[in-house]
Amino acid sequence: MPRYEYRCRTCGDTFELNRPMAESAAPADCPAGHDDTVKLLSTVAVGGGSKSAPAPQTGGGGGCCGGGCCS
Ligand SMILES: [Zn+2]
Repeated sequence: MPRYEYRCRTCGDTFELNRPMAESAAPADCPAGHDDTVKLLSTVAVGGGSKSAPAPQTGGGGGCCGGGCCS
């Protein structure tokens, strides 16, 4: 079940809730009982697979070794 993060605008607390995706936009009461909360951008990892960052091309030249000029 995805986890969502909320912030209470009354007391400034942030809290997390595990709830179905269908209820992600539903109002959530903060642990102190306030209902003036906003949903934060969640860092939900559903299955993963989005960790493929392009490999940085470090090193000296400008692609010389790809063209066969490095004998
Ligand atoms: Zn609160």
